[in-house]
Amino acid sequence: MNFYLLGYPVGHSVSPAMQNAAFREEGLPHKYSSLEVRPNKLAEIMKTRIRVADFGGASVTIPNKIEIIKYLDELAQTAQTAGAVNTLEYREGVLTGHNTDAVGGIRALTEVYGNLSKAKVVLIGAGGAANALATELAPKVKKLMILNRSIEKAQRLSERLGDNTEYDSILNQTCIEYSDIVINATPLGMSPKINESPVIPKYLHPNLLVYDIIYNPLKTKLMSDAEKIGAKILGGLWMLVYQGLEAFKIWTGIEPRAQTMYDAALGALEAMRH
Ligand code: NAP
Repeated sequence: MNFYLLGYPVGHSVSPAMQNAAFREEGLPHKYSSLEVRPNKLAEIMKTRIRVADFGGASVTIPNKIEIIKYLDELAQTAQTAGAVNTLEYREGVLTGHNTDAVGGIRALTEVYGNLSKAKVVLIGAGGAANALATELAPKVKKLMILNRSIEKAQRLSERLGDNTEYDSILNQTCIEYSDIVINATPLGMSPKINESPVIPKYLHPNLLVYDIIYNPLKTKLMSDAEKIGAKILGGLWMLVYQGLEAFKIWTGIEPRAQTMYDAALGALEAMRH
């Protein structure tokens, strides 16, 4: 069966290495490959590659995560909540959209932090990834503060969630001083703009866990700043691995080994740098 990553650009994706490693380890004869798909080509791809007999499933990434919804038969609860799709399941002629980003992101966070119920969390960003993470986080944490450049987007997201959620401008960062966890869900610091950070370093403190969901570079400027003052850090590669692992489970019903997928993703990232 054929599995795809549908996005643009997809040349630097580590998902093929990660999913193919898991297929190999599980002894499955499947093949996962990147398909460069701009939004104006989506309709054609749905007919020629997706709704066909040898199609096994797909991951969906920028810029197709919302656009793809109109081509689907069903939306799983995860995709309805996030308002975006990152995984396609095709079963008995029914094409269903899922979103595994939030589950993957929170699993990575919980493995490092432990129980979140007493945590005060600052989430920076109010885009697709932040929306998915905030929805999953809000019921699990003590307090969630959403900071964003466009304050109205932070407000809309905050109002959709529980009473323990507040919002502010990305310029007002004093709340970080009183927080346990800071999450970056903006592209600030992502390759090639590796010298940027969404957090003013003076607000960081040693009792923080700083979680940057960017995975390229593996250690962002924000993470380096945090490490310097003795805070704990977590990068985005485990989130990528766990969202991919959840997709693999949807496609095959098998839970693959996370470490195999992590090693393959890391290897692919390192190969790109040389
Ligand atoms: P998105 O929907 O485009 O949202 C981008 C967010 O970043 C918005 O809140 C935006 O603020 C903010 N932002 C963008 N440029 C900014 C700037 N120059 N200054 C301040 N804020 C800025 O993107 P997304 O899909 O949520 O992705 C966000 C990041 O998460 C990306 O780096 C992506 O690679 C990463 N990600 C990682 C994983 C993983 O598996 N590890 C999964 C998904 C995403 P405005 O609302 O003001 O525009």
